[in-house]
Amino acid sequence: MMKCAFYDAKPYDRTWFDALQGAYGMTCTYFESKLSQDTALLAQGHDAVIAFVNDTIDRQVIDILYKKGIRVLAMRCAGYNNVDFASAFGRIHVLRVPAYSPYSVAEHAMALLLALDRKIHHAYNRTRDFNFSLSGLAGFDLHGRTVGVVGTGKIGRVFIDICKGFGMHVLAYDPFPVPGYDVQYVPFEELCRSSDIISLHCPLNADTYHVIDGKAIAMMKDGVYIVNTSRGALIDSEALLESLKSLKVGGAALDVYEEESQFFFEDWSASVVQDDVLARLLSLHHVLITSHQAFLTDDALKNIAETTLENLRAFFAGEPLPNEICYYCTRIDSCAKDHATRCF
Ligand code: NAD
Repeated sequence: MMKCAFYDAKPYDRTWFDALQGAYGMTCTYFESKLSQDTALLAQGHDAVIAFVNDTIDRQVIDILYKKGIRVLAMRCAGYNNVDFASAFGRIHVLRVPAYSPYSVAEHAMALLLALDRKIHHAYNRTRDFNFSLSGLAGFDLHGRTVGVVGTGKIGRVFIDICKGFGMHVLAYDPFPVPGYDVQYVPFEELCRSSDIISLHCPLNADTYHVIDGKAIAMMKDGVYIVNTSRGALIDSEALLESLKSLKVGGAALDVYEEESQFFFEDWSASVVQDDVLARLLSLHHVLITSHQAFLTDDALKNIAETTLENLRAFFAGEPLPNEICYYCTRIDSCAKDHATRCF
């Protein structure tokens, strides 16, 4: 059995990893702590590390893991913006789960949009208090509205299908349009100018950091809704907050937040949260925030466990690693590796 140090473990992670690990020749030690310089030493005596979106995987952490004999890091997620690939290259292979359920995230994006628009979060609280007033709960029909989708990858395309099912007009922006895909691609500026709703489905990288900033928001329609289930730092949170306060932005539904790693996935209800931007966002009636839960369906969790364990099995069996990602993959979006080999 190969021993895996499993960081940031939550009860919902364990269900499928516990059920499947034996079949893949793995055994997991679950650590509740996130991976960081302070916790990297816990990996000592293990053969692999399994990590998640808000773990810190910088040069210092990679140095510690490498010194402790770790040669493979399995991300149990699709995104990898928290990994210092330059440090890992040539030393630690980084594997990921490129797709586990685009439906889980796309459906959550639509759930957020519907809840924000029809004020379901307010209605739920009111009726529990026997307040059956409808004042202030008016939304607008999604049918016939224009939705701008930034990123037409796996999740973006499922979201587009859902929006088409609602009778919405879809505009899309992607620097790498999908050939032959039936959607109206437009430049980013036009998407900002023409959309009633903007939903983000692109990765976080140097090009997309704060892609929604004050300048982009200024181009948008008054009252636009912004939905982000992708990565927090796609949006300049302070600019978003100002535009929500002025009602330039009519509503925001966020599953991610740029400083989320400090807070999300944990219970801070008995603490005084010191992030004033997050606190102010949460205080606004036209903001709906979930805690990076878009992926959280039982189907997705099972697929995550299966692919993560299969990635590790293939690594230890010396087989090709189709789900490996490296410094070069991340720099040019699609690396020269032919997937019959490894990145190094
Ligand atoms: P994907 O790789 O299939 O698609 C990403 C798309 O974004 C690609 O078509 C790519 O060309 C496009 N893109 C790249 N640069 C862009 C840019 N500058 N502007 C616009 N588009 C750009 O990825 P996916 O599986 O669809 O996932 C999308 C994102 O969703 C991930 O990067 C991740 O950050 C996020 N995600 C969030 C959750 C969650 O629980 N909230 C779960 C999974 C993924």
